[in-house]
Amino acid sequence: MGREKELVELLKSKIVQDGKVLSDQVLKVDTFLNHQIDPPLMQAIGEEFAMRFKEGGITKILTLESSGIAPSMMAGLVLGVPVVFARKRKSLTLVDHLYTASVHSFTKGETNEVSVSKDFLKKEDTVLIIDDFLANGQAALGLLDLVEQAEAKVSGVGIVIEKGFQPGGEMIRKQGIRVESLAIIASLENGEVKFVEEAITE
Ligand code: 5GP
Repeated sequence: MGREKELVELLKSKIVQDGKVLSDQVLKVDTFLNHQIDPPLMQAIGEEFAMRFKEGGITKILTLESSGIAPSMMAGLVLGVPVVFARKRKSLTLVDHLYTASVHSFTKGETNEVSVSKDFLKKEDTVLIIDDFLANGQAALGLLDLVEQAEAKVSGVGIVIEKGFQPGGEMIRKQGIRVESLAIIASLENGEVKFVEEAITE
C-alpha cells in the first residue's frame, strides 16, 4: 500500500473506531484530534499535507486555535515554515495592529472575532491554510479573509476531516482555491460514518 493511502486508511479507521457521532451533523474525535492528540498520527498527517502542497512555494501555515495547531505544527516542521494560529479572542492591546475576521461556529452556535498580528502575515507570504474540520466553511473563509487583508497569496487549504454533506468544501473550491481533505465524510446518518471513496493514485 502506498504511503498516502496508508495514512488515509489509518485516519479513516481511527474515525470509525474512536469517533463518536453526536448527531447527523457533528462528529466528535476527542481521542486523537480535538482534546487528546495522537502525535504519530499528527506527524503522518503533517507529512501528507507537506507532500500534497510541496510545490506551492509556501512560506507560512495559517490555522485557527486550538484544534488546527497540532496538524499545522507537523506540516510546518516538514515544510520548514512557521505556523501562525489565528486567535479567537482579540487582545485588548494593539487592536489596530491586527487583521480580524468574524467566524461563525455552527458547532458552538457562536460568532468569534479571529485575529492575527500584522507582524506575522505579510504581502510576500504564500500561505497554506490548515484546519481540523471543514463543515460550512466559515472558519476557512475567515482565515482566507485574513490572508486577503494582508495581501498575501493562498496556496491552498488542507483539511483533516471534511464533511462533504455540508457546503463549505464546494463553496471554497468554486472560488478556485485548492482544497485537500485527507478524509471526506459522505454522511453521519443513523450514527454511522460513511466516507466519500476517492481513487488515490499510488
Ligand atoms: P465550518 O467553519 O467549516 O462550518 O466548521 C469548521 C470548524 O468548526 C472547525 O474549525 C472545527 O473546529 C469545527 N467543526 C465543524 N464541524 C465539526 C465536527 O463535526 N466535529 C468537530 N469536532 N468540530 C467541528
